[in-house]
Amino acid sequence: MRLNVSEIPDEGLKQELEYTIKLDTGENAQVSFSISRYGRKVLIEGTIIVTLILECSRCLKEKSYPMHLTFRDECNPAEETEKDPNLELTGKDMDLDFYINDEIDINDIVSEQVLLSVPMNPLCGTQCKGICSECGKDLNDGACECIREETDQRLAPLVKLREAMKNRKE
Ligand SMILES: [Zn+2]
Ligand SMILES: [Zn+2]
Repeated sequence: MRLNVSEIPDEGLKQELEYTIKLDTGENAQVSFSISRYGRKVLIEGTIIVTLILECSRCLKEKSYPMHLTFRDECNPAEETEKDPNLELTGKDMDLDFYINDEIDINDIVSEQVLLSVPMNPLCGTQCKGICSECGKDLNDGACECIREETDQRLAPLVKLREAMKNRKE
């Protein structure tokens, strides 16, 4: 959906819309938002409900991530922003965007908001054991032959310490 800034009346425009947006990532998002205009500055506030399919960063299995986002986006004309680099933000939790040719693309804003919220290291669950770096087995399906070795390596300093303490006691 594209918005023509000049078509928003001077006194501003409050609008609640709800529709489904196709994201770059292929998922549909439910979006509702309101638009206000202050001079050439446009404020878009809304909520996005979307379920992304992400790959678990440990076991690489796909997992659906339901997200419910709220956003506040301030759009300024790119031409004026270039002239005035000190263009001030109207709020703390405000994202700053630019528009060119009097046109704001809501899809772009929504896609950007969703992408900003995608977790850096998504997990299928906090308990995900990941895959074995040696044999590639999904450790959520059970331990592999080499897991012991890996565990030993990680705990080696502890084991040594425990042995040292035991020796001291004896
Ligand atoms: Zn996982
Ligand atoms: Zn293994």
